[in-house]
Amino acid sequence: MSELNYQQWQQAASQLKIETGLFIDGQFVPALSGQTFDSINPANGQLLAQMAKGNQDDINRAVANSVQAWKDQRWSGLAPTQRMEVLLKFADLLEANQNELALLESLDMGKPIRDVLGIDIPEVLKTIRYFAQCIDKIEGAVTHTAPQAQHLIMHEPLGVIGAITPWNYPMLMSIWKVAPILAAGNCVVLKPAEQSPFTAGKMAQLFVQAGGPAGVFNVVNGLGIEAGKALALHNDIIKLSFTGSTPVGKQLLVYAGESNMKRIALETGGKSPQIFLPDLYNLEAAVDRAIGGIYDNAGQVCNAGSRLLVHSSIHDDFIDLFMKRTANFYSVGDPLDPATSMGPLVTARQQSNVMGHIQRAVQEGASLVMGGDIASALPNGCGVNPTLFVGGLPSMKIVQEEVFGPVTVVQKFDTEQQAIELANDCQFGLAASVWTSDLRAANRVTRQLEAGVVWVNCFGDGDMTQPFGGYKLSGNSRDKHMMSLLSYTQAKSVWTALV
Ligand code: ADP
Repeated sequence: MSELNYQQWQQAASQLKIETGLFIDGQFVPALSGQTFDSINPANGQLLAQMAKGNQDDINRAVANSVQAWKDQRWSGLAPTQRMEVLLKFADLLEANQNELALLESLDMGKPIRDVLGIDIPEVLKTIRYFAQCIDKIEGAVTHTAPQAQHLIMHEPLGVIGAITPWNYPMLMSIWKVAPILAAGNCVVLKPAEQSPFTAGKMAQLFVQAGGPAGVFNVVNGLGIEAGKALALHNDIIKLSFTGSTPVGKQLLVYAGESNMKRIALETGGKSPQIFLPDLYNLEAAVDRAIGGIYDNAGQVCNAGSRLLVHSSIHDDFIDLFMKRTANFYSVGDPLDPATSMGPLVTARQQSNVMGHIQRAVQEGASLVMGGDIASALPNGCGVNPTLFVGGLPSMKIVQEEVFGPVTVVQKFDTEQQAIELANDCQFGLAASVWTSDLRAANRVTRQLEAGVVWVNCFGDGDMTQPFGGYKLSGNSRDKHMMSLLSYTQAKSVWTALV
């Protein structure tokens, strides 16, 4: 982590150069239309930059450039160890430039600088290094056939892949896709979220500086409904990998059907339950971890543990502890201050979305016991204070809908079976956690939870060997793990007659 203090970060911010162009064929370029969109600092409402606004023409240009790179095999034709070397160098260059990247990310979307440096960038580096190391570990198969034939199964890259990413972890969500896409030998056109456009082009530039061929990793900033839609409808995009909202995920499946039936990989949010069984030997430690599971990144986390299912025998103690401990952990402040643990939400629009969820929850009868208000510490910013509701019922929107802000709701239960039913009574199935000292109970519950990721006595833990993705409306794909890399390949069967 960097040693800079608040004043030094502010000074660095005042001298920062923000690249506003699209990144195509190894260089920053303006949008063909010359149009731009404003990027506003969510901590103070000030204009940071006017970013090139890519549209369908720019997507066509970027995809055509990547198709050329794919066809001449400037990347897929390299030896696996050469691709590995480039990706490892890419990670080293990101690390060497981490202060600049952290500053861009923090200003852009309001994430505390200490979190970008302490969480996002280390995870970005781990992801690239993991997939780089996987490159020469991909193995096909020789199947058992009759003696008259030999049969090989080979994993081949797909071609030009599109990636559309969200604003909550701009670098990390992009790299979760870009690293395995590139490791498998594909080219990629990335469309980052318009709320957080600063770092993607910079990363693509560092890939080229690391020896990556131009055109292999292109970036087109722009609006979802323009650039994103054009990418999703493009007939030369063979697969599209997406993290974002469920409605947009559904729309991408429609675009695929309307165009070339491209494969669509979706990670589309959640409403993750955290189940607290009655026999916890250390309630305080569990509560501390659970608090991080909901309020880190100001709750703008797709797997945020935003439903707290608490056994009736510990319910009141749990809520007391939860409120006291949250006050110790979080206060909203300027993201550039290394002491800040919670920044603003990404935009004024997101702030008003979250306040709308809070008002609806009050109207539907949930009891507001903590927060529920705009953070006064950032007078012109987009902060919302950590918020807790109790008395949640399955019929309430606050229990069913993803808020994507620092808001959580407690539901009380009496039996293990009730807890499982409440946990699964939701359209989403991204993640869940179980807190208990009873090993048998933990195993009984985890087997019945409808979630792609289940944590026992922790929340959000893991490493690159853990596949990440959801059941139900949380999506249909997995990021991280070797299975993500393989999902960006296709199997070719080669059957050879020997006689
Ligand atoms: P959120 O509601 O959290 O902003 P979205 O699903 O709207 O999440 O956005 C996630 C990503 O999807 C962003 O990069 C956004 O630009 C993109 N996007 C939004 N609408 C569309 C669309 N109709 N087609 C393609 N991409 C889209």
